[in-house]
Amino acid sequence: MSLQRLQKVIAEAGIASRRKAEKMIEEGRVTVDGEIITKLGTKVDTFSNITVDGEPIERESLHTYLFYKPRGVVSTANDDKGRKTVVDYFSDLPYRLYPIGRLDYDTSGLLLMTNDGELANLMMHPRNKVAKVYVAKIEGQLTPEEIHRLSHGVRIDRHRSAPAKVKIIRSDKKKNSQIVQLTIHEGHYHQVKRMFKAVGHQVKKLSRERYSFLTLGNLVSGKYRELTHSEVDRLK
Ligand code: URA
Repeated sequence: MSLQRLQKVIAEAGIASRRKAEKMIEEGRVTVDGEIITKLGTKVDTFSNITVDGEPIERESLHTYLFYKPRGVVSTANDDKGRKTVVDYFSDLPYRLYPIGRLDYDTSGLLLMTNDGELANLMMHPRNKVAKVYVAKIEGQLTPEEIHRLSHGVRIDRHRSAPAKVKIIRSDKKKNSQIVQLTIHEGHYHQVKRMFKAVGHQVKKLSRERYSFLTLGNLVSGKYRELTHSEVDRLK
């Protein structure tokens, strides 16, 4: 039987980060098999009944999938406009999966889907600067000065983007467009589109090709594969 630390189990259930779970335990908000536990590091097994603020926590096996999100799909579990969501692609699986971060409705590419709350919290924490590689089709062509600005950081509202790697893949002068690969380590709302906008270019098409060390490989749009344990360990 596998024993795990109580705070880890609470974090993995997606209730709170591990640190917050520790606080909850110390505050006497957690019970194990009916008993209030305030000692950190208490070990529980897979069959222990755990409650937080009186609510039983659900424990299921942890799964993480690498999904090739198509364009025209929302990255939330529910959409008030009734559009197709990323969760719809996993409706045959018995797990409640949610995306790690977001891709815009019109962005395609690599999106991780998981029921591992701890992994999701970890990956989305700003301290954990996960590398993300995007390929954008932009209007116009970047000048050397704009490339320099993009790679050193541009102003987006009240913050400045962190240094990024910019690589020109292809230029189409006739169509007045360019394909640019951008590697960033942050994930603010519309980050890539706003970075290009800051240097005067509109993004016409956007795709995420890499997340940390993971790539789409030979997955096709709308399909997924489960990550191996060693891939998950490497992310953590
Ligand atoms: N940046 C964007 O602008 N959109 C995305 O979907 C992802 C990153």
